[in-house]
Amino acid sequence: MRNQQTLAAAVTCSGVGLHSGQSASITLRPAPPDTGVVFVNHNATGETYLSASIEHRIPTELCTAIKGNGFQVQTIEHLLSALAGLQVDNVFVDLTASEVPVMDGSAAPFVRLIQSVGTVPQDRKQPFLKIMSPIEVTEGSKRVRIEPSSTPRITYSIHYAHPLINTQTYSYDCSISTFESEIAEARTFGFLQEVQALWARGLGKGGTLDNTVVLSQDGIVNDSGLRFDDEFVRHKILDLIGDFSLLGMSFIGHIIADRSGHALHTRLVQQILQQPEKWVLLNTEPKGKEKRTAAHALHLQPAIALQAS
Ligand SMILES: [Zn+2]
Repeated sequence: MRNQQTLAAAVTCSGVGLHSGQSASITLRPAPPDTGVVFVNHNATGETYLSASIEHRIPTELCTAIKGNGFQVQTIEHLLSALAGLQVDNVFVDLTASEVPVMDGSAAPFVRLIQSVGTVPQDRKQPFLKIMSPIEVTEGSKRVRIEPSSTPRITYSIHYAHPLINTQTYSYDCSISTFESEIAEARTFGFLQEVQALWARGLGKGGTLDNTVVLSQDGIVNDSGLRFDDEFVRHKILDLIGDFSLLGMSFIGHIIADRSGHALHTRLVQQILQQPEKWVLLNTEPKGKEKRTAAHALHLQPAIALQAS
């Protein structure tokens, strides 16, 4: 159990959006306790806020996106993964476009950015949602469930009829150091035919071999090779960590995913919040000081409180 954390100082990076191809810069800024991750849109009338929480999630085919308060942000999952992986609980994200830059297709550039200033503990306990009974969502052969466990863990399996993948399974014990060394560097991947089909539809405009591992029939197109033999399943864990952070607090449980994806990851978060009898909240502040009660978790809208202050 630990206190909430934010960044020690503001940091900025820039790049292009994977799907829009738009150039964007993002600035991560320290935020007060109980803020969560809040995207900030600057326009002619001032600033509007959109919290990265599950009720703002909108259905998208290829990435995770949120919408509300007059704007939307897509491809948030790798940035959210870096923030969750490094336990940055409270942060404002200023963004100059509607898509987070893809950088090198992994979370590593965001990790390095955060590490360049470091994090600081805050005067408020970080709540943990501890799973007491299993919760599962499925869609055909796709499946993701969370089970009771004494520590946070993720086990992911993928299956593709490709000689570099076949079946890959990876188990990740959540900690800052394992996130940095085992997960953060794993890049987005796609199959050549699918990538070409996307480009034909005018999607994936920012996709290049510098930010996507492209699989050919029996190998990969990228000259640079893979960062890990099982980079593919590690990237699925990276995505899941980002998607699951839309829960808005830390978790204690074992997430087990098989052939899953963004839509199912976020459905699991929704199911958890709809079944409060299957979990308990730990490390909460005493009554009066506490803002994120179980009931509040269902309607997390820090953006409203921020606008009022
Ligand atoms: Zn991804």
